[in-house]
Amino acid sequence: MRLRYLLILLLFALPRALAEGLPDLGDASQASFTSVQERRLGERIMREIRADRSVYGDAETTDYINSIGNRLVARGSDTRQPFEFFLINDNSINAFALPGGFIGVHTGLLLAAQSESEVAGVLAHEIAHVTQRHIARMLDQQKRSAVTSLAALAVAILAARASSDAAQAAIAFGQAGVIQNQLNFTRDNEREADRVGVQILDRAGFDPRGMPLFFERLQRATRLYEGGAPSYLRTHPLTFERIADVQNRVENLPYRQIPDSIEFQLIRAKIRAQLEQPREALTFFEASLAQRKFLSEAASRYGLTASLVRTGDYVRARKELTALRGIAPQSPIVENLRCGLLVAAGERDEALACYREVLRRYPGNRALTYDFVEALLQGGQPDAALKVVEIGLRSNPEDYRLYLLQSRGNAMLNRRFAQHRAQGEAYARLGNLSAAVEQLQIALKTGEADFYQLSGAEARLRELRQLVELERKEGLKP
Ligand SMILES: [Zn+2]
Repeated sequence: MRLRYLLILLLFALPRALAEGLPDLGDASQASFTSVQERRLGERIMREIRADRSVYGDAETTDYINSIGNRLVARGSDTRQPFEFFLINDNSINAFALPGGFIGVHTGLLLAAQSESEVAGVLAHEIAHVTQRHIARMLDQQKRSAVTSLAALAVAILAARASSDAAQAAIAFGQAGVIQNQLNFTRDNEREADRVGVQILDRAGFDPRGMPLFFERLQRATRLYEGGAPSYLRTHPLTFERIADVQNRVENLPYRQIPDSIEFQLIRAKIRAQLEQPREALTFFEASLAQRKFLSEAASRYGLTASLVRTGDYVRARKELTALRGIAPQSPIVENLRCGLLVAAGERDEALACYREVLRRYPGNRALTYDFVEALLQGGQPDAALKVVEIGLRSNPEDYRLYLLQSRGNAMLNRRFAQHRAQGEAYARLGNLSAAVEQLQIALKTGEADFYQLSGAEARLRELRQLVELERKEGLKP
């Protein structure tokens, strides 16, 4: 249901966040949104999004899209604005920028794109909307009355979403369409995002032709859609004039053939293998290999192997994996599948040895770390799991998932102080400060901590309480 998420994001998340906070928004004397305000608003929306089932939180896919996005940001644009890219499990072709540099990409967009430069083209366009402060300007233009009515409608949509009453939901969605029109980018915004996007794409070493190529692909797709344009086109209207404009810009740039990374191909295969019905995915990859219809044979073999793991055919999966490793370049994504196959087949010791070996080659790899810790926990080895978490936290001290795993490991060892301390750190990083405070209070009450642990936890509790107070003062909390 592509519509559902589009509404949540563009229509509901934004006004709801406005409704709950930033009381000076409707104040005419408060002329413009600062970057800090915009970032905080974005973080607030992200809290809602992270809790939503539609997020595709797969570590490998998320790291991949961030590597492309950050390459564009680092070499392509002169902004110090931090960016975060995330994926939505949705077959439709869409991408969107939220306030504060948060950029969402639908899995359907990655499947539709035929080259890495096409994906980069869409990301560059979204990045440009942020760096050119189009969203901030859009927020500024919202009149007080508009913000109020947006907020009211947002509440209705929220209610409709929570209830199972389809008719009520339909009414709310109908109203939501009205909001959407108010939140669309202007034609000038679009032209500017295209212009700046092409520059970003070029400077980051991608093929700038990726952008017009993807636009054309979108247009062809539009003709096939019975029910109207893909969602991307509704938020970024695409006209013939706009496509011609981008083509002209790109023609002046020197021709450059950029080969796709193996990660691009593997990640696309992974999305299909994981998100489609296992049988359908299996048939797709079998047909693609039989007819030799693929962009990368290694990726199709990867997809076939991953689908076989999902259907539980480990014997065949093992054979395909051997074939895959014979043709694929070295990649942690392939190796992670190898270890995952051992886990699925119930060969626990071999699986643990596999993760140990592969993590030595790719230290700090998120997906491998999570899966290794999970395998250790499930194998009843919480001590070993906690050691791996500790190493992971050294390179990623802000990773809430590592804290969640740390909490689970400590719970298994019946260390209640450490369990709640870690749970609190996870909540703090998820932006749920009051829940974090609560966990620290529980930890302190266990009476298990020594003097140093106790004073450390008390200091952290004071810090968190100050942050809660700050949020309250800024009106970011109801
Ligand atoms: Zn746009």
